Amino acid sequence: MHERRGRIYLDHNATTPLRAAAAEAMRPLGAAGAEAPFGNPSSVHAEGRAALERLERARAQVARALGAEAGEVVFAASATEANNAALKGLAFGPRAAERRRLVVSAVEHPSVLGPARWLAQALGFELVEVPVDADGVVRMDALAEAVDGGALAVSLMAANNETGALQPVAAAAALCRERGALLHVDATQALGRVPVDVSDWGAHLVTVSSHKVGGPRGAGALWTRRGVKLVPLVHGGHQERNRRAGTEDVAAVVGFGAACEEATRAVPAEAARLTALRERLWEGLAGALDGLTRLGDPARTLPNTLNVLVDGADGETMLIGLDLAGVAASSGSACTAGSLEPSHVLLAMGLPSDRARGALRLSLGHTTTRADVDAALARIPPVVRMAREEAA
Ligand code: PMP
Repeated sequence: MHERRGRIYLDHNATTPLRAAAAEAMRPLGAAGAEAPFGNPSSVHAEGRAALERLERARAQVARALGAEAGEVVFAASATEANNAALKGLAFGPRAAERRRLVVSAVEHPSVLGPARWLAQALGFELVEVPVDADGVVRMDALAEAVDGGALAVSLMAANNETGALQPVAAAAALCRERGALLHVDATQALGRVPVDVSDWGAHLVTVSSHKVGGPRGAGALWTRRGVKLVPLVHGGHQERNRRAGTEDVAAVVGFGAACEEATRAVPAEAARLTALRERLWEGLAGALDGLTRLGDPARTLPNTLNVLVDGADGETMLIGLDLAGVAASSGSACTAGSLEPSHVLLAMGLPSDRARGALRLSLGHTTTRADVDAALARIPPVVRMAREEAA
């Protein structure tokens, strides 16, 4: 709970606080004793079997949140690892002998763009980065063109981390199926915010992350449809049925599983609550300040995300001012903050660099209250005015 005078955390797309259910589920993992689940899940003794039981329960919880079968879920340390495992795993797989093109949207997270560009440079794949429209949604005509004639795979995020733009993943999956390509969906920002169902989507691979749904850092997962062949990113022991070697971080995945269960159960109510709070935030800001432009189509955006272009102000200056005023926000994504380059997402939406530098991302989450939003509305406008004066 935030006090009106305390910090206001509006950066849930960067990471969200640990849910009580996750903390509670993880608590026994540190305990010792004959039946304690601290063992190595690959060990045959009671401690190992207890850990394995917790691990598999967590796998079932994550699978249920995705509308998938538990046997198709492989744990990883992060969504970054899962995205790398998906793209590199396909690129080294049997289908890559004939299909040498990879297709990604221009607004993918660096953990998709990075491996895709590396595969192009190091292994000679052809890479097509498909443009988006002014709302940040991938252009389906361009996607169809890119997939035509033998693409190996398409990677398209379910929701963008900076703008919240929801992408047409089901339509992309249908297009891929017609042309024999595989669809990987980075659902890191979508899980726990909008309904996620791998069957409805028709995707072949889906990435998710623990710390974005209120689980701890250190866990992510890659769901792979039965029959899709992936070469493992990490070789070694037989863990995760030979699909990802290394002793599993049981505590982290147990927290991840509990967070998935709670977050997905809450989606309908939270989507309505956060949409109302987000609209209150936008209306309050637009009433207090001129020269604001809301990015994206609110009807096709994550319920929790508001990205605003502030004319005549620098994003970094606003962030520092907001931090001093007790508001945690973001300009571009956290991964590119600190660099002077404007966000690749906003540039892909056709914004000139100087305007893109004035972006302010406010992302709400499970701990955000109406009092937080009202307090933010009191604190943000003076900071924007200060940043504008500084830039003038
Ligand atoms: N994909 C998207 C869309 C993200 O927003 C993020 C986190 N910024 C990631 C992947 C990487 O997630 P992780 O922190 O679990 O590596």
